[in-house]
Amino acid sequence: VARNRGENEFHQAVREVLDSLGPVIAKHPRYADDGLLERLVEPERQIIFRVPWVDDAGNVQVNRGFRVEFNSALGPYKGGLRFHPSVNVGIIKFLGFEQIFKNALTAQGIGGGKGGSDFDPHGRSDAEVMRFCQSFMTELCRHIGPSTDVPAGDIGVGGREIGYLFGQYKRLRNSYDAGVLTGKGLAWGGSLVRTEATGYGAVLFAQSMLATKGDSLEGKKVVVSGSGNVAIYAIKKAQQLGAVPVTFSDSSGYVVDEAGVDLDLLQQVKEVERGRVADYVERRPGARLVARGSGGTGGSVWDVPCDVALPCATQNELDGAAAAALLRGGCGVVSEGANMPSTPEAVEAFQSAGILFAPGKAANAGGVATSALEMEQNAGRTRWSFETAEAKLADIMQDIHDSCVAAAEDYGRPGDYVLGANAAGFTRVADVMAAHGIV
Ligand code: NDP
Repeated sequence: VARNRGENEFHQAVREVLDSLGPVIAKHPRYADDGLLERLVEPERQIIFRVPWVDDAGNVQVNRGFRVEFNSALGPYKGGLRFHPSVNVGIIKFLGFEQIFKNALTAQGIGGGKGGSDFDPHGRSDAEVMRFCQSFMTELCRHIGPSTDVPAGDIGVGGREIGYLFGQYKRLRNSYDAGVLTGKGLAWGGSLVRTEATGYGAVLFAQSMLATKGDSLEGKKVVVSGSGNVAIYAIKKAQQLGAVPVTFSDSSGYVVDEAGVDLDLLQQVKEVERGRVADYVERRPGARLVARGSGGTGGSVWDVPCDVALPCATQNELDGAAAAALLRGGCGVVSEGANMPSTPEAVEAFQSAGILFAPGKAANAGGVATSALEMEQNAGRTRWSFETAEAKLADIMQDIHDSCVAAAEDYGRPGDYVLGANAAGFTRVADVMAAHGIV
């Protein structure tokens, strides 16, 4: 704790994993040998750098850039870049740590890493975003490569940013290494289904959990938070499977649309116009906006009664009180599209209530899994159809689900997807770390 002072989210993520490894270490004490756990929680390398750039008014802006290369036991470091003003080393380390186990669960030979910056793209022109990305990549390009470290998108980093980052990488390295970044445009090495993959995967995971109870998403009322990449495609897949998503949100508030979210309108507002959730309500009769801190009808999106909740915005967005509200409202399934959106108190409440709860490192692994499929296509200089890529994603999600179920049973806690995900991910990484010796 003293060594990583102030890194609250990192402590939270480590505690969550180590707490659930008790039964694993009890059954296989070798996993505590050779400082394996101490090595696991220390990143192999962390890079912190200055990102200077010039805004449209001619002022010099200085942001901080991060890349945490956490664990390369299973393959090149892999994990997204987040551009958000809240970014600090503790947040990037928590995300990188989670990524190790998530990537292990996909069984695709990828290590764990994460990066980003405290740069806020909201309200910035395309030209400002480009200059920022170019400056960011000018430093980052020394540390990454298709066999070394392969960044992707996350909050605030989508297709536009990946394009600017790739353009600068290619220019500096004089090398068309398509496999150095994932989430690329379809015309220059991107994979079909990558955009949809995280949201689709979180919904497929919910469907797999329901199937263990002989149930499905058909006709279920779904509450979604966020309105970015993950939320939009979670809504889309839920609709395809016959469910009715009725909410979404951003940092300004949340929208309730009891008739069911109009996905075309939401995509127009968020993806085309880069607008706010209020812009949707203006054009959608019957939908209502509950502004953040407005003291309106409910404190958060989690007050809306539902069968299924899909937190798809950010870490710690769903606390103990929100979990209690969800349970009161009849929620029986939570599948985390975001990384660590539920606080420890919320997870405890869901598990005590015995509902189906899927932690993000399992439920949102579809994004990175499809990134690995993108790397595979880049290496083979080929491109699969949407149907091929989607079928592979569905197989991977089912496999992750089944690995979690099997590990939870192995360690005596059937139905505990938190233990299952942590145990299955950890043992895969730990076995390889042991094989590689003390490095
Ligand atoms: P986007 O930037 O596309 O969207 C993020 C959404 O969450 C926006 O609606 C944003 O609202 C909202 N949000 C972000 N931060 C906050 C905050 N502090 N308070 C309230 N709302 C907030 O990001 P993604 O959809 O890509 O990512 C969402 C989550 O999914 C993150 O936890 C990410 O780590 C996780 N994830 C993403 C993957 C991917 O493939 N993209 C893969 C696996 C996990 P606003 O615009 O107002 O900030």
